[in-house]
Amino acid sequence: MPKPLYVSWAFENGSPMDWEELPGGTVSFSPCFDYERATGNRQLTHWHFKLFGEKGRQVRLRIPPKENVYGGRRVNAFPEPVGSQFSSDGVSWTPLVFHPSPDKGIEASLTLPSDETLFARIEPYAVPQLSSLLKSLEGRSEAKVEIIGETVEGRPLEMISLSRGPGRKSALLRARAHPWEAGGSWFVEGVVDRALSDPAILDELDIRILPMACKDGVVRGLTRFNVNGCDLNRGFGKGLSFSRDGALENLHLANWLESRKASGDLPSFAMDLHDDDYGRLHLNDSRDQGHMERMRLLESLMRECTFFTEGTERGAGSTFGAGLHELYGIDSVVYELNSNWLASANLVPGSKTWKEFGFQFAEALRRLFKAAYNKGA
Ligand SMILES: [Zn+2]
Repeated sequence: MPKPLYVSWAFENGSPMDWEELPGGTVSFSPCFDYERATGNRQLTHWHFKLFGEKGRQVRLRIPPKENVYGGRRVNAFPEPVGSQFSSDGVSWTPLVFHPSPDKGIEASLTLPSDETLFARIEPYAVPQLSSLLKSLEGRSEAKVEIIGETVEGRPLEMISLSRGPGRKSALLRARAHPWEAGGSWFVEGVVDRALSDPAILDELDIRILPMACKDGVVRGLTRFNVNGCDLNRGFGKGLSFSRDGALENLHLANWLESRKASGDLPSFAMDLHDDDYGRLHLNDSRDQGHMERMRLLESLMRECTFFTEGTERGAGSTFGAGLHELYGIDSVVYELNSNWLASANLVPGSKTWKEFGFQFAEALRRLFKAAYNKGA
């Protein structure tokens, strides 16, 4: 008889969950839903845990049927195959695809590569990875890190500035408004790599990056909301009311933008990075024709320079994309990386691919600034 299987999620970014071993080497696991306080919406997308079981043992992993609540409607949490990753050492990760079962659960089978195997929805990026990035910037004259405030639980919110001196227009990138969406964090690492290794990028523009907006949620292994139950990609727009007992992280971002506005130094362009099942660029529905033309130029540059092929859709109201445009006239968009499948690379994306994508994107950004913001400068 094999030893009982055992699951642990008691570590940073580990996802709280129920689990049980079923006959035949199946582990059924149920990560906790993450709930939005104001609406009753709930979402289960993140998982990250360690499975103790002998190397070489065949196991089947299963999440029983789950329903998210979105806009007051209950919807199947897993309508499509779901990409994920596993690892023996937390460094090198291998894709694992979960397929829907007839009862609307999802399942995947594998041979355990180790006595302790890590499983994660997206290759994890938490505070240790962010700390390594920040450390790598120390001593770089083009890079500065400013603390723009603290999260609800008192963690510092870093803003990275990449610049070769005053006088250039800037782009703002934000990652991890939603804690499960680690793809955006790896992507911005690629942007930083390119900006610091290809002089043409910072010749054209400054880049500001808020790399981990919902840091408490990342540490606690949550899916979508901050620890006050607020969605950090909602509430932007006229009459915004971010507060200390609500979306505190957004209050700090709004204050940062206000101080930029006061000094005449608002970003020209801003992008909020997310993960979903579709991979589309979310464009605003704006009557500002110049804005719409510049964002269509962005789309074509992303097609030309990066892995992007998935197309566009109209973004939701009061998001970072819609709100920063409405409030400040910034060319702002939401971009959803497809967390399951990157069609143009024909693979389930991991950190290496996300970083390469960000590296490519820095060139799209350079060309956008050259054509749209710096012409005649
Ligand atoms: Zn998101």
